[in-house]
Amino acid sequence: MSRWLTAMAGRLGSVVFAIWDAGYGASVRGSLSTGEMVGDLPVAFGRSHLARSCRELASQDRTTHGMRVAAPGMSTPETSAPETVRGMPVCGFAPVHCQGTVGKLSVRELIVLGTASQVPTSHRNHNGYVLRWDAEGILFDPGEGTQRQMLHAGVTAHDLTRICVTHFHGDHSLGLAGVIQRINLDRVPHPITAHYPASGQRFFERLRYASVYKETVILHEAPVEDDGVLPSPPAFTLCARRLDHPVESFGYRLVEPDSRRMLPERLAALGIEGPDIGRLQREGELRGVLLEDVSEPRTGQSFAFIMDTRLCNAVFDLAAGCDLLVIESTFLDEDEPLASEHGHLTAGQAARVAAFAGVRHLVMTHFSQRYADPADFERQAREGGFAGELTIARDLDRIPLPKRR
Ligand SMILES: [Zn+2]
Ligand SMILES: [Zn+2]
Repeated sequence: MSRWLTAMAGRLGSVVFAIWDAGYGASVRGSLSTGEMVGDLPVAFGRSHLARSCRELASQDRTTHGMRVAAPGMSTPETSAPETVRGMPVCGFAPVHCQGTVGKLSVRELIVLGTASQVPTSHRNHNGYVLRWDAEGILFDPGEGTQRQMLHAGVTAHDLTRICVTHFHGDHSLGLAGVIQRINLDRVPHPITAHYPASGQRFFERLRYASVYKETVILHEAPVEDDGVLPSPPAFTLCARRLDHPVESFGYRLVEPDSRRMLPERLAALGIEGPDIGRLQREGELRGVLLEDVSEPRTGQSFAFIMDTRLCNAVFDLAAGCDLLVIESTFLDEDEPLASEHGHLTAGQAARVAAFAGVRHLVMTHFSQRYADPADFERQAREGGFAGELTIARDLDRIPLPKRR
């Protein structure tokens, strides 16, 4: 079906479509566009192999898929094209997977389910995070108790489309068993994709089949073998990068390609409307009018998730220029020897990474139970030189992505 969609995109240029899901009554509007999707990464320094890979894939998307999903409330004139097709998959990668998250107010935000490293405390659940990104709901590192924290946070199994596990220590993975069974119990109608270190395949299988249940959902296992780009929908690229921890651990980075925002007043002034808008987006020129004359650059947004690692090049590459960075800061700076011994970061190290990488909103989390006062992490983050927006994460925090640059 996605190939058929791609073909449609190629022929029509810009197609607006809607999906009505009878079960949830969600209505989705999206855009297929072969217009400019520059796919340049906001890399602040040292364009790494990873960054190049992301950029290349985004560029490839422009030619092979050329489609983008517009979230509710984020429509631009490019989404108000003339043709409507019903019953189509929105994202190509996971057909009909959009009914869970779309139609709700939250569009792009991080929902913090748990913030404790190693063991839960009376105030902090084991690790766990959901990133809502338009139609996608990505569950990161579900520790023990994640299913119940989802309930507290108002996240349902239907909201999830993807699971990303950095590594198989229990605080990052013990929740898999419960969440996977819940996804099946609730008969989530769309496939779910799971990424995790390939070296931990046996752990994933044990957790997936920890006890008896009826499988009703397609769960794609997409283990991460090495650094690089993971299969992801055209709306973004998802990259993995190996970190430095006693067991194999991968950080993740999600990047939306740059694109162009159409300007309705200029289109109207030049008498360009209806199907001509799509034609101009596709061909870059129409009756002497250039795409640049009626549009402006639209910078893609980015997100990175870095858990359980010592300082290493991958940490900087993953964080480079991110709009929102979630990073572990297990220890305070005075315990740096412990952090180094156990393969973790301190608050000051995490802050220096974010400052150097040009991160806009830094979320520090995965705190050791030995510390009682979160204010110490905030103080060391500022002493570490990070001057941007800062959140010392608490369970059930909701953190929106910063406004587009
Ligand atoms: Zn951990
Ligand atoms: Zn760990």
